[in-house]
Amino acid sequence: MDTENLHQHPKLTELTTRLTEIADLRSAAQILEWDQSTYMPSGGAAARGRQLSTLARLAHEKLTDDAVARLLEELAPLERELPVDSTSASLIRVARRDHQRATRIPTAFTARLQDHLSNSFNTWAKARPANDFAAVRPLLERTLELSRELSSFFPEAAHPADPLIDYADQGMTAASVRALFKELLAELGPLAAAITAQPLADASCLEGHFPEADQLGFGREVITRLGYDWERGRQDKTHHPFMTRFALGDIRITTRVKEHDLGEALFSTVHEAGHAMYEQGTAPELDGGPLGEGASAGVHESQSRLWENVVGRSRGFWGHFYPSLQRAFPALAGVPLDSFYRAINRVERSLIRTDADEVTYNLHVIIRFDLELEMLEGKLAVKDLPAAWNARYQRDLGLTPPADKDGCMQDVHWFAGPIGGAFQGYTLGNILSGQFYAAAVAGDPGIPDAIARGEFAPLRRWLTDHVYRHGRKFSAPELIQRATGQPLTIAPYLGYLRAKYRELYSL
Ligand code: ZN
Repeated sequence: MDTENLHQHPKLTELTTRLTEIADLRSAAQILEWDQSTYMPSGGAAARGRQLSTLARLAHEKLTDDAVARLLEELAPLERELPVDSTSASLIRVARRDHQRATRIPTAFTARLQDHLSNSFNTWAKARPANDFAAVRPLLERTLELSRELSSFFPEAAHPADPLIDYADQGMTAASVRALFKELLAELGPLAAAITAQPLADASCLEGHFPEADQLGFGREVITRLGYDWERGRQDKTHHPFMTRFALGDIRITTRVKEHDLGEALFSTVHEAGHAMYEQGTAPELDGGPLGEGASAGVHESQSRLWENVVGRSRGFWGHFYPSLQRAFPALAGVPLDSFYRAINRVERSLIRTDADEVTYNLHVIIRFDLELEMLEGKLAVKDLPAAWNARYQRDLGLTPPADKDGCMQDVHWFAGPIGGAFQGYTLGNILSGQFYAAAVAGDPGIPDAIARGEFAPLRRWLTDHVYRHGRKFSAPELIQRATGQPLTIAPYLGYLRAKYRELYSL
């Protein structure tokens, strides 16, 4: 049977039609969410919450429809006949996974959770600047209950966090992430301590006045060079930068600008462009269905981190871009490249995860991961969260947050989503950024020199062939094995950090 005939299989056509409708409902929700975060007047908030909830319910109903179950059953023989990496077999396999997961969760629960979370998010958005933990505490307690209820629909799970982790990072569990993080912390803890015991690097060249238009212009110049396709994308401003996909031909990014800080817009732009280039690189035949998105939260984050940190904070990259940065911002005219390079790679113990450097960033993530497991296990009550948070920051980073707004209220995740599954992907992404980059350089040793010449096509080509074009055809563990020849491993990431920071600090 050739591929042409397979696509004409009537049941497969019917399944594809249904999956495209579900993807269209999700895209509609994403368009509304993008608008909510960019241009919507505040008066639109209540109606927008209802509109998103309606779309989520319709998508859930369509996915759990008995007709989908029947089609998946009827297509099982065809799936077995086809090569496992064929698009059709992958479509049936991934649709089955999504359908089976969704049917475990009652539609009424999904709506209840959605309503609660939009209320919780709106409350948090006001309570955080006011440093008012008491205002969010009852809502967070309810979120914890609902998160445990969500987990209870998967009674076979060994740990209540497992279904939540598996949803974002298929193949990982609380136990496997915990073991991985322990191994990482054993290496990273001493590295971070050795660096932060030394004098703080001077980052004053990143402070000053950098006009917004010039910052946006330079960011656009950089990501155009990296390969972000503006024919299929655009960039707008927001409070918390993100990337969103409406279709293969419309993959948008957002950024925020701080005129006193040169790093903010630049690195967030490169980060989101990394996410976007991954999506723009998926094969056209995967668009408009469950395969047309990234493999997992961790793999997605690996692509943003790879471009932002491994490439965008490298010496080679700035050897190429620094002269044009100096032309755009005359204040840098007298600042040597080496000083700038040290400034953008300054390692510092800090309170805020999103401002953290690449050495200490994972310490912030591991604290959140441990605390959410303790909450789900019933060992940590929400009322004790601020104290537990502060104690962990003191222990792991040597700092105690002076206020909850810079402590346990700083991240949106627990206030806009379930507790569990939201944080491990960041550190998995960091680990994988090192692993994918090492595999890319092994496959094409000319990549680092090309980067130093401002040529990014060789790296993009490797990533497209080994990661991007596959979309969600393979689970993250399968994709990692195929792309790098081994399972997830921390060695390349640690090797990258050690080599880079040995040169910057005396280690
Ligand atoms: Zn990201």
